[in-house]
Amino acid sequence: MPNPKTHPLTRRHLRRPRQKRQRKSTRPTLRFSPSAWAKLLFLRDAGPTEVGGFGMTEAEDLLFVNDFVLIEQHCTEVTVAFEDIAVADFLEDQIDRGYRPEQFGRIWIHTHPGDSPQPSSVDVETFERVFGNCDWAVMFIIAQGGKTYAELYWRHGGPAALRMNVEIDYSQPFASSDQETWNAEYRSYVHNQHQLIPYDFDEWEEWLSDNIDARELPTDSTLQFGPPEPPYKSFMNSDLSENA
Ligand SMILES: [Zn+2]
Repeated sequence: MPNPKTHPLTRRHLRRPRQKRQRKSTRPTLRFSPSAWAKLLFLRDAGPTEVGGFGMTEAEDLLFVNDFVLIEQHCTEVTVAFEDIAVADFLEDQIDRGYRPEQFGRIWIHTHPGDSPQPSSVDVETFERVFGNCDWAVMFIIAQGGKTYAELYWRHGGPAALRMNVEIDYSQPFASSDQETWNAEYRSYVHNQHQLIPYDFDEWEEWLSDNIDARELPTDSTLQFGPPEPPYKSFMNSDLSENA
């Protein structure tokens, strides 16, 4: 019988299941309603440029996106620049409708041309700068080819970040398709601009971080992760470096 510590096949067998189990149990999941998902794909494919916006959620389930809304933006194939006034209007509108910032200003969603959903250096820099003062935020990217990237960031006990699983949740009732409205939203919000415009989130960066009450941070199961504990933390680090 081969020595289990040195035999290559045995070692591989011993190692693999442990990694898989850990991955499944520790990654939080970002869920989309089928209608939000359909709208996102429709808008991704509506034109040649990237599009970006926010995922909308219910207060009791902050990682379940039930709508994707565009922000007025100037886009090229590789960039999305939101208009500051449009962003401010959007944020105020949502507050007027009775939503809380964590329901509409935490899940930043954008599309990528081609096959890679990996965040660009600009994406990473933007995410850190704009959402770095938020208690938590999600960066979600979907590539034209269908691959996704989702990352959950949180400040307290960190800052730390963790890759997320992505799921479409069919378990609850969902709205039917509405291509006409989606198309109208695309036409009025997305301006194709073949010129590089840098992101300018400064105005709403302040807004986003000012409107958070840390005491009301969702700490229950809706976020599907607990306070970072030592084993969890080491997994986070290895997970991030692996995907860097
Ligand atoms: Zn990007």
